[in-house]
Amino acid sequence: MEKEHIGGSCVNVGCSPTKTMEASGRVAYILSRAADYGVNFQGPFTVDMKAVRRRKRDIVISFSSGDEAKLKRRGVEIVWGQARFVSGEEIEVALNEGGTRRLKAGLIFIDTGTRPAVPEIEGLSACSVLDNGTVMEVDSVPEHLLIIGGGYVGMEFARMFRRFGSEVTIVHRGTHVLSQEDEDVAEAIQEIYIRDGIRIILEADTYSAHQDAEGQIHLRLTCPKGEKTVTGTHLLLAAGRVPNTDMLNLAAAGVETDQGGYIATNERLETTASGIYALGDVKGGPAFTHISYDDYRIVRSNLFENRDAVIGDRAVPYVVFIDPQLGRVGLSEKEAAERNIPYKMVKMPMTHVARALEVDETDGFMKALVDPESSRILGFACLGMEGGEVMAVVQVAMAGGLTWHDLRDMIFAHPTLAESLNNLFSLVERA
Ligand SMILES: Cc1cc2nc3c(=O)[nH]c(=O)nc-3n(C[C@H](O)[C@H](O)[C@H](O)COP(=O)(O)OP(=O)(O)OC[C@H]3O[C@@H](n4cnc5c(N)ncnc54)[C@H](O)[C@@H]3O)c2cc1C
Repeated sequence: MEKEHIGGSCVNVGCSPTKTMEASGRVAYILSRAADYGVNFQGPFTVDMKAVRRRKRDIVISFSSGDEAKLKRRGVEIVWGQARFVSGEEIEVALNEGGTRRLKAGLIFIDTGTRPAVPEIEGLSACSVLDNGTVMEVDSVPEHLLIIGGGYVGMEFARMFRRFGSEVTIVHRGTHVLSQEDEDVAEAIQEIYIRDGIRIILEADTYSAHQDAEGQIHLRLTCPKGEKTVTGTHLLLAAGRVPNTDMLNLAAAGVETDQGGYIATNERLETTASGIYALGDVKGGPAFTHISYDDYRIVRSNLFENRDAVIGDRAVPYVVFIDPQLGRVGLSEKEAAERNIPYKMVKMPMTHVARALEVDETDGFMKALVDPESSRILGFACLGMEGGEVMAVVQVAMAGGLTWHDLRDMIFAHPTLAESLNNLFSLVERA
């Protein structure tokens, strides 16, 4: 059963639409830099948000309807409505078309995901606010977009709307944006954003919001050096996610959650109730589409292929689709320190990467952690052009058990970004 849209957050309000719109932002960026490449362009250009939105809607419709058609071809019945448990084996669906329907099954899979969190801020409910879905539906470029939250979602939208021409202010609670990342990575991103005209206010707690008669939104913040007010025309909430478990009546099925409301599972994704499994974001992440998909692989293997698959210590590669991209896999320095894992770290700026110089996109750096004993690669980050693709090369090397010696000496085609891994890993001897 599905209450809203086939394909879930990823296809409808997450990965696909954001990357589609980000592509428009990138075109605007390239136009703004035409002269750097010796191309005469009689600017200024304008961004037609309705056309950007149409492009995004087309992709969403094509992906979502494609998924729906695939399910139907395979004989899957889609029941449109909101589901809740009646017992450990029975579900009641409040049908979108009206009425209810009950369904019974010996196996039940919960994959209800998350929704945007709404922070407790005085006056917020009286303001018009945007979330990750509605911000992609605006029909003109916001004059000044305020974003509460400097995590992955807030940072992607900040980059995109700045390129469309908005003034952008990010208000973030932590000491640096992208709080999970190593400080040097986050600080490099902050520097790039600030250089590109994005305002970032750190260690800021938003305690009140007010929308005036002209529609301007005023946020009052508590910062280490006192109080501040920021004013903008639009407000995007990107302050985390909450699990879609509160409407499921989980108690009726004996399915337990943790304190944050996420469903508790074991390594095989079994919940506390027999025959009921939880997959994807609703079990507490890591909140990525490819992890939700891997959860499905685990459950499928165990139930239908008689295997013993577990979450275990699976690699969690991910890309933050800012520009330049941040591609990450394996351990960060922060995680290595927390887990007391010894490592050697090497780092090389993108200004040392021939391909990046040729394309004139030299922001960022590559960084790797290696095991001093076994020479295995423990973790890798590429904040740089096509950082996600470069990361995938290292991910495969890690999965195949290659050492840093192997990547230092491997023949890569010239001049690719991957070729620079030779240079990065040659730094290990001196680290
Ligand atoms: C702005 C944004 C950008 C993102 N970009 C990326 C990215 O680039 N790469 C990446 O890997 N991940 C990205 N993500 C994360 C990714 O979207 C999620 O990790 C992924 O969608 C999780 O899949 P899921 O199946 O667990 O849940 P969802 O995709 O959230 O699906 C849950 C579905 O359950 C339905 N539902 C909920 N409750 C009920 C109910 N009671 N009855 C019936 N139906 C119900 C919902 O309508 C929804 O369709 C992004 C997320 C956001 C918000």
